[in-house]
Amino acid sequence: MLRYSAGTAGIRAAIGAVCFLWIGPSACVPGGGGQALFSGSSVSYQPGVVATLERARRVLWVGAHPDDEVSSSGLLARAKHQGASLYLVSLTRGENSYDLWGGLRRGSEIGRSRAALFAQAASVLHADGFELGPFTNGPWIHGELDLLPADAPHRDWAAGTAADDVIRKWRKEGDPVAYLVDLLRRVRPDVVVALDHHCGVTGHKEHMALARLLVEAIKSVSDSDTGLKVGSVIYSARVTPDLVACGFCTCEGEAPLQPAEEVGTAGLMPEYGLTEAGVACLVARTYEQTMLGRRWSEEQLREPCSEEAAHSAGLGRSGPFPPEVYRLYGLP
Ligand SMILES: [Zn+2]
Repeated sequence: MLRYSAGTAGIRAAIGAVCFLWIGPSACVPGGGGQALFSGSSVSYQPGVVATLERARRVLWVGAHPDDEVSSSGLLARAKHQGASLYLVSLTRGENSYDLWGGLRRGSEIGRSRAALFAQAASVLHADGFELGPFTNGPWIHGELDLLPADAPHRDWAAGTAADDVIRKWRKEGDPVAYLVDLLRRVRPDVVVALDHHCGVTGHKEHMALARLLVEAIKSVSDSDTGLKVGSVIYSARVTPDLVACGFCTCEGEAPLQPAEEVGTAGLMPEYGLTEAGVACLVARTYEQTMLGRRWSEEQLREPCSEEAAHSAGLGRSGPFPPEVYRLYGLP
């Protein structure tokens, strides 16, 4: 695994390869009842997700791939703004990415590039630290991707793969629960923000597998270390339009009973000069810039994100960044 302090978070990536989570309109999984919180240009926050976040002193976000944090960036910006420390973790480097921007090779090369992109996102979010875990993206184990010919076709998880298959594969590379337990002991979060175990935002089995492992790790650490108690997990409950279109075809198990909550992202973050949605926009644009080889100036990078601030100030909520949707789980 690699660990970085916030001081090294400004690394510039060469070329990245990212599968964006952040697409299109808000949608909730069946059984979830989102509630709009916007009222004209003023924003109110209902208790639950936001109240939990307001009480947090240390927030840990855990995803499976660099760029997964894009789905929660508004909430993470808010957490940091409220004075909580913020630590970001991606379990893999996303080294089995489908896209190969700039002709990078899958494996270590893509992994390094996406790790650098993750560093940039951490920098944008003013995270206090971040790290990349020691597990591999896709049906591969460490080093296998580097042995393939440069023109090898992309191979991802087979249709019908379940989250448990992903967990079995990761266990060939190490002990993911032990890694997460160690992480929790080091970061000592009171609140964890993660991708959910039912649909995993995109239906990606690695997202769902990670959510299961996290719960196992949190329960284990609470049992064995009375000085550390993670009280809540906040799951991203937004799902992508693809998942809606296929009837939630890759979701697993029963839909959770917890209601989905829409969290307004129009609050101004003075340290950025942007709203929470604007910060989320900036994180996504930072990925986009590198992936697509754009040479945007700082002004060009921020321009559409600042536009969001204008929307929240009274021009309506028609920007590309709708409220984020979460479910709150209290843990014993
Ligand atoms: Zn992902």
